[in-house]
Amino acid sequence: MIRSFFSLLSVVAFSCATFAESVTTVKSPNGNIVVTVSEDNGQLSYSVSNNGVSFIEKSALGLVMDYADCSQNLSLGEVSYANLSDSYTVPTIKQRTVTYEANGMTVPVKGKFKSRERGQEVERDVVLFNVEFSVSNSDVAFRYNIQRPNHDQLLAARVMEEKTEFVIAQGSTTFLCPQMIPMTGFAGTAPSYETGYTPDDEMGKNGWGDGYVFPCLFRNADKGWLLISETGTNGSYCGCHMKNINANKYAVAFPNDKECNGNGKPEPGVTLPCATPWRTITLGATLKPIVETTVAWDLVKPVYKASQEYKASRGSWSWIIGMDPSCNYDEQKRYIDFSAAMGYETLLIDALWDVQIGRDRMKELVAYAKSKGVGIFLWYNSNGYWNHAPQSPRLCMDRSLVRRQEMKWLNEIGVRGLKIDFFGGDKQLSMQLYEDILADANDFGLEIIFHGCTLPRGWERMYPNFVAAEAVRASENLHFGQYDCDIEAFCAAIHPFVRNTVGSMDFGGSTLNKYWNADNKTGNIRRTTDAFALATAVLFQSSVQHFALAPNNLTDAPAEAMEYMKRVNTVWDEVRFIDGYPGKYVILARRAGDKWTVVGINAEKETKKVSIDLSGFDFGDKVSLYCDDVKTGAFAKKELKVKKNIAKVEMLCGGGFVIE
Ligand code: CA
Repeated sequence: MIRSFFSLLSVVAFSCATFAESVTTVKSPNGNIVVTVSEDNGQLSYSVSNNGVSFIEKSALGLVMDYADCSQNLSLGEVSYANLSDSYTVPTIKQRTVTYEANGMTVPVKGKFKSRERGQEVERDVVLFNVEFSVSNSDVAFRYNIQRPNHDQLLAARVMEEKTEFVIAQGSTTFLCPQMIPMTGFAGTAPSYETGYTPDDEMGKNGWGDGYVFPCLFRNADKGWLLISETGTNGSYCGCHMKNINANKYAVAFPNDKECNGNGKPEPGVTLPCATPWRTITLGATLKPIVETTVAWDLVKPVYKASQEYKASRGSWSWIIGMDPSCNYDEQKRYIDFSAAMGYETLLIDALWDVQIGRDRMKELVAYAKSKGVGIFLWYNSNGYWNHAPQSPRLCMDRSLVRRQEMKWLNEIGVRGLKIDFFGGDKQLSMQLYEDILADANDFGLEIIFHGCTLPRGWERMYPNFVAAEAVRASENLHFGQYDCDIEAFCAAIHPFVRNTVGSMDFGGSTLNKYWNADNKTGNIRRTTDAFALATAVLFQSSVQHFALAPNNLTDAPAEAMEYMKRVNTVWDEVRFIDGYPGKYVILARRAGDKWTVVGINAEKETKKVSIDLSGFDFGDKVSLYCDDVKTGAFAKKELKVKKNIAKVEMLCGGGFVIE
């Protein structure tokens, strides 16, 4: 809602001997963040500071369209300002109800445009695009609103390049996740946002050659932190990532031409006029605004109405421990009973169910699950012509005709949701597929989880049946290799600062098995503690979670750990960052109703002693603590006395805690 709208002439033009520069600014409501836009010799740029400290240095803005280079010979039109405010509720994200307050600035950008009129070539000065800024107390967002350069001709265009740059303040370090090289990885399923991070790395690198996925975290020396991402992407644009130009200069990049087995163009086709997705920068002196940001949802709107009320759920999942052979009728029945014993609402049945169980017996299974109060999520391959992932069911989700027939059947037999895997990358045609699947699924009342996929970009608010996406090096890698087990705590201590800040993350972890195998005696060794498993169930945010627990945990895991996992919550009203450093440790609090839960994990080599200030969380002088017994390494549950609102907790390396 635009509360008030006024426009004023704010362009200050001044001249000197060699050039004229136009400058305009917009500040956050509290005045701390200042965005400065300038036009200098026909080039457009912006910069961002916080409390007088530079976070983004002078960085280019502009577009190259197929009909004109809209990055050169530009001038500023009359700038307008608005106070922006919105209040919205999305029950599936980190904060249920959000009040968004920001200052908006619209900068019309003019250039010369040649067109034919009455048989003659005419050059006119026109508004090529507006840059719309929205600046809250912790986030800067901007997008291009591309105008029709003439009113009787161009209706369709291609965006050939975005010149949008992010020149990061000198001396910053990076926490970035490389974009995967297309058609590599399992059966050519890359890119799927499943690489790792190098913490505190130097600037000037370009990942594996193709840049980095959003969101991108930088530490601004000892002055603060900034997180760069994008939101609002749907089938009318491509998913972008970030490439390094040189040194501290980064820019928005379109997908690699080789993605999607070379099908489709990297450059998006648009109808005119149109708005691009929002580019977002979250910044502050600490990591607090980054962990707590809601910028991914603040500026998007629901695309359609929910066809029914979609509810959060917890569930189990045999595949993560038992792999493909476990996707058989008897084992799934055992897991339905296990979900019921845990009080969980769902069970996820993974790949190959169509051949190892069959459709008729699946109908029986879904009915059996229903009798136990358990809803079923079913796995599908998104393929398709975009990669070689062979797992079935295939060719059921790639085209609307077959997809809607399949979803009609799923709805008839009472399936609750789908996990759809192995997507083809970030080109516009892939983004269109995500949107089409979500829209069709809503018609049939199905919740959707994406795997082997792109980053969700505001989708929880845009599509009410969108639950979560993988887009992370997730729990399957703990089963696949010991190395990922060895660095599990390190990775887990990065996600709350990067990947999970902008979207629900389907990690599928919190195992209490000691080994990543069904016999719980062989296979990869878990290096993390049981208290860590409990903590990550709260630390990793997704309203629907299928935990890597197994029926044997009812007898071989600590009873008090299982008791906690039975009542673990996955929907939250609020999150508060308490302490931490990416890759080292993290402590945060989540609120459900009037009840706070504080969790922490430790990835540092030494046992970590922390003193947590609980004032503001209304705990009283005694709390329940699930933690590591640092002497024995065993799981412990204690009553902890809180003196002067300070709780003292110790975490092993790979350990953690839950306070409630
Ligand atoms: Ca995956």
